[in-house]
Amino acid sequence: KNGKVAGVKAKGKNDTYTITAPNVILATGGFGDNPKLVKELLGYDPARVKSSVPLNKTGDGYLMATAVGADTTKATAVMHHGADGKGISFLGNLYVMSWQPANIWVNNRGERFAPETLAFEFSLAGNAIASQYRNEAWAIFDDAAIDYVKTEGVDVGVGVLIPTMTKLDKLSEEIDAAVAAKSDAVKKAASLDDLAAQIGVPAETLKATVAQYNKAAADQHDGEFFKLAPWMRPVGKGSLYAIKIRPYWFCTLGGLRTDRSLAVLDKADRPIPGLYATGAEVGNVYGDTYTTWTSGHLFGFAAWSGKTAAENAVKSLKK
Ligand SMILES: Cc1cc2nc3c(=O)[nH]c(=O)nc-3n(C[C@H](O)[C@H](O)[C@H](O)COP(=O)(O)OP(=O)(O)OC[C@H]3O[C@@H](n4cnc5c(N)ncnc54)[C@H](O)[C@@H]3O)c2cc1C
Repeated sequence: KNGKVAGVKAKGKNDTYTITAPNVILATGGFGDNPKLVKELLGYDPARVKSSVPLNKTGDGYLMATAVGADTTKATAVMHHGADGKGISFLGNLYVMSWQPANIWVNNRGERFAPETLAFEFSLAGNAIASQYRNEAWAIFDDAAIDYVKTEGVDVGVGVLIPTMTKLDKLSEEIDAAVAAKSDAVKKAASLDDLAAQIGVPAETLKATVAQYNKAAADQHDGEFFKLAPWMRPVGKGSLYAIKIRPYWFCTLGGLRTDRSLAVLDKADRPIPGLYATGAEVGNVYGDTYTTWTSGHLFGFAAWSGKTAAENAVKSLKK
């Protein structure tokens, strides 16, 4: 109204509401569950790369702001690796096993493509897997790896949700159930030839990949990807297993540009009067890749930016 944002229109089940306000602060948490925006802003096929926990993040903040002339910048996502499919539940033992850095990752060619210790920096792991054919890969391990996570616990947890050193007591049970249910995402094999056939990669390449990896593990030196030595463990004891790993995001980041006061900027770099944005709407502080070493993580930025936007919105009333 008169060049200023003056409220919002909201639609309920039966009614619509017009809420007038001197300032509006957008805090809708990104667009991770809006397939059209995912395709447009992230370039991913929304059927293949998606939210790990869909929370109805429809990108309304982004859509409302751009409808009133907000400038945009490259959006990104808090990527991570993980797994789904028959027999795998979010944060179940198979899921947590898919995060482990001692696994060997191979793509559809049966080749490694990254140091699996990227699992410690989950956003990089998600990005690496997203770059593979059909945005997927396989995490391979053996009976020794199962014994390890049952007795020692996991080398890497899942964010704050599953602590490091959690023991995966139910892993064998979950694998057996998934294999019995003919899961497309969990495979068990007696040999590398058998495993290659089940996961659809060339057997000769897979055998060469594992042989090279096992030699690197024995040497404690990964000359290909410089995977960190403590997680270079030979693979081949007992049965072999593969979990299909895929990229997901915890949430998307950004799309809108703001100044330091969290005022949304227009295409001429001017604040749009009465409009602020916070949290995942403006996560561009991270650029292309979310990092786990930034102070306070994304919760920290969401809390800080929400508080800062509110303080500045109040200040603007006093002018
Ligand atoms: C499984 C999981 C684990 C995570 N772990 C961590 C972690 O360990 N550390 C960390 O820093 N971050 C973590 N995150 C990310 C963290 O949740 C987000 O960074 C943070 O919640 C972003 O805050 P926000 O206020 O921007 O958005 P949100 O917290 O997503 O809040 C946005 C809210 O707006 C609502 N909304 C959307 N559209 C509308 C609309 N049109 N009208 C009304 N309401 C609407 C949504 O329903 C939601 O409640 C995790 C996320 C997930 C999903």
